[in-house]
Amino acid sequence: MDINQLAQQHILKQPLYVTGKPIAYTAREFGLDPKDIDKLASNENPFGPSPKGMAEARKALEEVNLYPDGGSYDLIGKIAEFRGVNREQIAVGNGSNELLDMIAQVFLGPGTEAVMGNHSFAVYKLATMAMNAKIVEVDMPAPGYNYNLKAMRDAVNEKTRIVFLANPNNPTGSDLTAKEILDFADSLPETCVLVMDEAYTEFIEDTPELVPDFNSRIAAGKNIICCRTFSKIYGLAGLRVGYCITRPEIVALINRVREPFNVNSIAQAAAIGAIDDQDYVNKVRELNKKGLEQLKAGFKELGLPYVDSHANFIAVSGFKDPMDAFKFLQAKGTIIRPQPAMGDVLRITVGTEAQNKKCLENIKAYLGK
Ligand SMILES: *Cc1c(COP(=O)(O)O)cnc(C)c1O
Repeated sequence: MDINQLAQQHILKQPLYVTGKPIAYTAREFGLDPKDIDKLASNENPFGPSPKGMAEARKALEEVNLYPDGGSYDLIGKIAEFRGVNREQIAVGNGSNELLDMIAQVFLGPGTEAVMGNHSFAVYKLATMAMNAKIVEVDMPAPGYNYNLKAMRDAVNEKTRIVFLANPNNPTGSDLTAKEILDFADSLPETCVLVMDEAYTEFIEDTPELVPDFNSRIAAGKNIICCRTFSKIYGLAGLRVGYCITRPEIVALINRVREPFNVNSIAQAAAIGAIDDQDYVNKVRELNKKGLEQLKAGFKELGLPYVDSHANFIAVSGFKDPMDAFKFLQAKGTIIRPQPAMGDVLRITVGTEAQNKKCLENIKAYLGK
């Protein structure tokens, strides 16, 4: 018997998530030394993990014979203090990816809808499809590839349970102002939840006009879930830990579908250490700004249009065959992320100064300039 007939039929339509290409794969495929390859494909921190986070992770390693604290008590307490909210308002996940999946499990199912941008984080679509709910994609038009909030609002109806919004948005690198986002949040009916994905917010935190503060709205009972991650500015992508801030009632719902030990003990310890490492966060933010300027200057010189990003990655266009560019750049030791769904666009993570320089040189060689 065909095993596929036994599966839930909507699972057969589920696409696979394509991750940024690991260095080891490119090394094997192109016969390169892994040391000569820069991965600028997954918006990871090129400066390494938070040193204080690593120190705590090492200590935690000594006790991995014990299960982690399933309630992540210390980590949640640390986040609550750092963000100025109550611990009951926080849920943690195995990466914010897991939180997105859990939120979908809580709110989505057949007959419900989720509204999202058509060039946004691929996980929103996958989480929605996995729950057999309807994806409602709203166009994010070139060349700015930004959200059209009016069209997003118009797409919300009584079946909508989730609206996914990322600011800055991945993969476009576009951002909205705090006022635009808050007005949009206020316009939504109470029959849906706004999932505000703030994976890159730490990179823009010194620009308050771009960072909405939802705390008073959440305290007033608005259905808003703000998701953050330790994978980006804190440099802990490999450990998988993220959190969300929302109403205590929503935290309680998420905890119903959360597996008992979803965040491992090393990740919990590292995240606590990383929060204490704000000097490192500030340093990475500044280095990232310089790197962004370096890449933007390089693209200008090459005549390549880009979306004016403030995140740790940038979408650059002018590549008629993005898959061909992807291959060429890998052979030269730079892994980027082609974005064929956006047309002639590559998404490039901001690397170290040397990595950015090499990336720009490789692009120049590809374009034959
Ligand atoms: C990287 C990223 C995340 C974070 O994923 P983790 O599971 O926490 O590693 C979430 N949302 C967006 C938009 C991202 O780009």
